[in-house]
Amino acid sequence: MMMQRRASARESALRPWIERDAAHNRHLVVTVDLGRIRSNVEAISQSCRVPVMPVVKADAYGLGMLTICDCICDLASAFCVFQLEEAVRKNLAARTGRRVLALGPPSSLDPEVYLTHRVTPSVADVESARLLRKARPALCVDTGMQRFSCPADQIERALRAGECTEIFAHGTRKEHAARVAEVAHGRDAFRHVAASALLLEPDSHLDAVRPGLAMYEGAVEAAIPLHEVHRSAGPAGYSEFEGPYHGVILAGYAQGLRKGPCLINGRLSRIVEVGMQSAYVSTAAQDRPGDKVMLLGHELTASTVAAAWGTSPHEVLISLTREASRVYRY
Ligand SMILES: *Cc1c(COP(=O)(O)O)cnc(C)c1O
Repeated sequence: MMMQRRASARESALRPWIERDAAHNRHLVVTVDLGRIRSNVEAISQSCRVPVMPVVKADAYGLGMLTICDCICDLASAFCVFQLEEAVRKNLAARTGRRVLALGPPSSLDPEVYLTHRVTPSVADVESARLLRKARPALCVDTGMQRFSCPADQIERALRAGECTEIFAHGTRKEHAARVAEVAHGRDAFRHVAASALLLEPDSHLDAVRPGLAMYEGAVEAAIPLHEVHRSAGPAGYSEFEGPYHGVILAGYAQGLRKGPCLINGRLSRIVEVGMQSAYVSTAAQDRPGDKVMLLGHELTASTVAAAWGTSPHEVLISLTREASRVYRY
């Protein structure tokens, strides 16, 4: 009989704390509305009228790949990740009963690994196509991105070497989809190009769509409580910013924060200085410790924050979600 050693009281007390602390920032909380994600995918499916292959790479943009996949599994024809490892680590195909497509360059040239895990590799050259033929690779063709995609003069040979019946491209413009349709013309191939940016372009949907960002729209809130509030006694912080009042939150660069907009008690305000694990916000006389500082949500979308940060909504989402504690609601 196996003897189990009981954890000491001290070990038990420490364990949950350490696990939570190691993985996630306890103050910054991302609330994920799974019902909204589901209805977003339903809406995409109904308007596009082709199979939906949700893109859940980078842990579903930091929202938790398995929880997201479980919630939309019946609406998905396949799931897309970037690398084989993302699917293997979470046992994604077995868990969801869906094929997984790895969109990025192959991490292994052994077809058995892909077959075992029900992952379709993407290939972009004749040699990889030949080596991975048994795993039925998808050919990623170059439509202008000029990275991990097959140049025009090799397409014919790569398709033949891999016996490929799936052709796709990374694309955000109508011309990218048109180019894939042209390459696939006259072949019995499954074709897809459309990421979120092409969902409103019916001609670009081809045989399936691959939305990422659009699934998460309106479904994510990132918030953190005010830790301290001060009536400012002169210039404050490293940058000696000025203002009648300021507050402090316990998340910083390490949690993806940057200077920019936030909402405090529903009022538009600003993150005025960011440190490694804390930041200053501009507050008003009535704000109190514990009041909510919203970094992302219905009234402050990823696109608005992205414009202020000078980046894409994708980057805003992954930055603010990556280290946050997660709460799911339905
Ligand atoms: C990330 C990605 C997508 C999804 O992009 P969104 O803009 O988030 O919809 C689709 N296709 C490929 C190849 C990607 O890398």
